[in-house]
Amino acid sequence: MPEVNLHASAVAVREIRLNTITGFTGKATELLAQQRCGGLVDQPRSFTQCLGCSTSNAACMVTLVQDGVVISHGPVGCSSCLHEFAFTYRVNAPLRGISHASQRHIYSTNLSEEDTVFGGNQKLADTIRAVASRDDPRVIFIITTCASGIIGDDVEGIADQAEEELGIPVVAIFCEGFRSKVWTSGFDAGYHGIARKLVRPPRQKRPIINVINFWGSDIFSRWFKRFDVTPNFITPYATAESLSYSSEALASVQACTTLGSYLSGALEQHYGVPALRAAPPYGVAATDRWLRALGALLGKPEVAEAIIADDHEQFLPQVHELRARLKGRSAYVTAGAGHGHSLLAVLAELGIRAQGASLFHHDPVNDFDNEDADALVAMVHDYGDVPNLSICNKQEFELVNVLNRIRPDILLARHGGMTLWGAKLGIPSLLIGDEHFGMGYEGLVNYGEAILESVENDEFVKNLSRHSVNPYSKWWLEQPPYAFLGDDT
Ligand code: SF4
Repeated sequence: MPEVNLHASAVAVREIRLNTITGFTGKATELLAQQRCGGLVDQPRSFTQCLGCSTSNAACMVTLVQDGVVISHGPVGCSSCLHEFAFTYRVNAPLRGISHASQRHIYSTNLSEEDTVFGGNQKLADTIRAVASRDDPRVIFIITTCASGIIGDDVEGIADQAEEELGIPVVAIFCEGFRSKVWTSGFDAGYHGIARKLVRPPRQKRPIINVINFWGSDIFSRWFKRFDVTPNFITPYATAESLSYSSEALASVQACTTLGSYLSGALEQHYGVPALRAAPPYGVAATDRWLRALGALLGKPEVAEAIIADDHEQFLPQVHELRARLKGRSAYVTAGAGHGHSLLAVLAELGIRAQGASLFHHDPVNDFDNEDADALVAMVHDYGDVPNLSICNKQEFELVNVLNRIRPDILLARHGGMTLWGAKLGIPSLLIGDEHFGMGYEGLVNYGEAILESVENDEFVKNLSRHSVNPYSKWWLEQPPYAFLGDDT
């Protein structure tokens, strides 16, 4: 099992910890066969268009903590995209019953060229004090950048000193963009800081279940109520206090194994909170298994059976109806790894043929070393193979090439920047920001209806494609989509 070392100031990146890859093309079954025999090799690209930065993912996890503030220690450009989390926080707050979303407080130490020569330690120390007196936060998160990493500022030492002086946790998070080609290493960096500095040793057990997720709607409370437990959402809309007692939960579950793997592993290995050994509940079979695994873990299997029976009766007739209406449709998925697997399961359950997927990385193992929690394994087991599975860290030139050839009836995307490529090609494209929208049995109804609406109302994308200019040349669109993969000469 990959070891979670909370004594180290920085998290081990995914390439090292999990043997994560960002380059592969083939069938889902081929990927799993290579994963199982230990023969999965990262295929290099001789051309890369772009790369995600871990600092943004770390910020994504800590900016949404209600009573925290974030300081990006680096040039101001490294924090230029962080305002989007303030937007996310505000628009999703009603989904969690928060009527007056507090303002997000995001700062940059604004390192200059001169600072990169003489050091930025003093600037950081001054910024922490200024932020503490201005905002009176319950926790301060410092996210590092390439510049502060390269010049070797003593971020951990300054954070520790400030923590002593101010009497609140000051958490150093090491997430420089150059650390990893796998942007989800940034999630792990954020969780690593939280697990080291915010989570306190358990003093008692509480009737709560940690739900490691993004900012989706609360579909858990309805299920959990029947088990007499409540969700402890991590980290969006959590507080420094609620994060501190996550070590006292009865279990940890996750909306997406990619996202929650590290913190689930940390809470299990260091505080004895068991991680649920089941793939997230997307699709009928996975939802049945997930509820049964939760029932077994809580010692209440009869409650799980009762929920399954009731929900089947309420939602499956609608799913059958949608299946009939969606028959013969095809789709392509582009998303992060875990959520992409879950979307493939939703499509299969609705009877839609997946023509392929571009997923942004692939973890051959998770941090609690359990194949039952692997959503791709579950999806292939439940519904069979997926052709044209590409592992690509958001290489848009490959996506456009593939979409132009395959021309699915719909593109399902998880990231805004990717949806537009389908739309520009005249392909109805659906982006659902709420990652719990497709969860559980009712999630199939939600997605089925949204897909139907998109494919039946395609006039806008057809018009858009007639008036769009494709920035990719005819030459590139005639090349095989993975012409630059597996060749690093
Ligand atoms: S890759 Fe480095 S320089 Fe670029 S935004 Fe990320 S931290 Fe800043």
